[in-house]
Amino acid sequence: MSKKVLVIGEVRDGDFRNVSFEATAAAREVAADGEVVGVLLGENVSSLANELIYYGADRVLTVESDKLANYTPEGYAQAIQEVVDQEDPDGIILGHTAIGRDVAPKLAARFKSGLVSDAVSLEVAGDEVIFTRPIYSGKAFEKIVVQDGLTFATIRPNNIAALEKDESRSGEVASVQVDITDLKTVIKEVVKNTTSGVDLSEASVIVAGGRGLKDADNFKLLDELAEVLGGAVGASRGACDAEYCDYALQIGQTGKVVTPDLYIAVGISGAIQHVAGMSNSKVIVAINKDPEAEIFQIADYGIVGDLFDVVPKLTEEFKKV
Ligand code: FAD
Repeated sequence: MSKKVLVIGEVRDGDFRNVSFEATAAAREVAADGEVVGVLLGENVSSLANELIYYGADRVLTVESDKLANYTPEGYAQAIQEVVDQEDPDGIILGHTAIGRDVAPKLAARFKSGLVSDAVSLEVAGDEVIFTRPIYSGKAFEKIVVQDGLTFATIRPNNIAALEKDESRSGEVASVQVDITDLKTVIKEVVKNTTSGVDLSEASVIVAGGRGLKDADNFKLLDELAEVLGGAVGASRGACDAEYCDYALQIGQTGKVVTPDLYIAVGISGAIQHVAGMSNSKVIVAINKDPEAEIFQIADYGIVGDLFDVVPKLTEEFKKV
């Protein structure tokens, strides 16, 4: 049965986050020959609408308001609720980002609908959509079968491939007027916290450091390697607790969950709480001086050695490529 699926695009600094296109691909799969409707919220976002169509949406609705210039849970919930009321879709797909994680449960509760959170893949079997999501810190996967009724789903970035961009696609772009009221949250300042400028949760390469770095200054070694590889720097909680870097870089159960193509763990022991945030990376390289370190159990490639010797050599070699 064909379905109508809404996909909530996420824009940051005037550009789409990749997960928007991945969510559009997921919506396309669920909708089959039905309709994928992109939804864009913010200020001056309408000019980006066609991009969502190039990546698989059939039409796009924009909700423009200065009150949506920055994310607030109440503002986004009001805007999405209005669009859902107007469109009466079968499903709504968002990225499993800070925004998606926050607003999707709120809306699901408001509509008394189902919510599938943090899906890493999906398949369609007849009228059913079967989502797969990790549980127990990534040690197992569960399948959730959605049969009918409105359902919200958030998808983990970097897991569902976006469709190829097709600039020959065209579709209607229309605006929806929503009177955003009663905002209790006031955003006073947005502070960026990336060292390399690459967004950790969407980076295809991550160089992460642990307590083995021994000093905040030594994180420069990781900055250099990440820069050569076009990647981002992350960290274990051990490194954050030791004040070698900001908690914004923390990866793991209580930090960010990442799925890059390449994850280089430097001086990280591989505690289960860290592994929970990175074990789905496509290729894992571990550098540790202790051959018994747990991180080697999940690594595809391991280098047993002193990071202060190995990392500069890797940086030099990658510079030559
Ligand atoms: P360590 O365990 O101290 O490991 C340092 C490693 O560096 C060692 O393996 C050592 O052999 C190696 N090393 C030292 N010197 C060198 C050198 N010169 N060259 C090469 N290798 C060297 N942790 C997270 O990371 N993320 C989380 O989200 C998280 N959430 C948690 C939630 C809870 C409820 C709890 C209880 C803990 C959580 N932790 C989390 C903490 C976690 O249990 C570990 O304590 C932490 O991951 C350890 O950090 P680490 O690997 O950097 O440090």
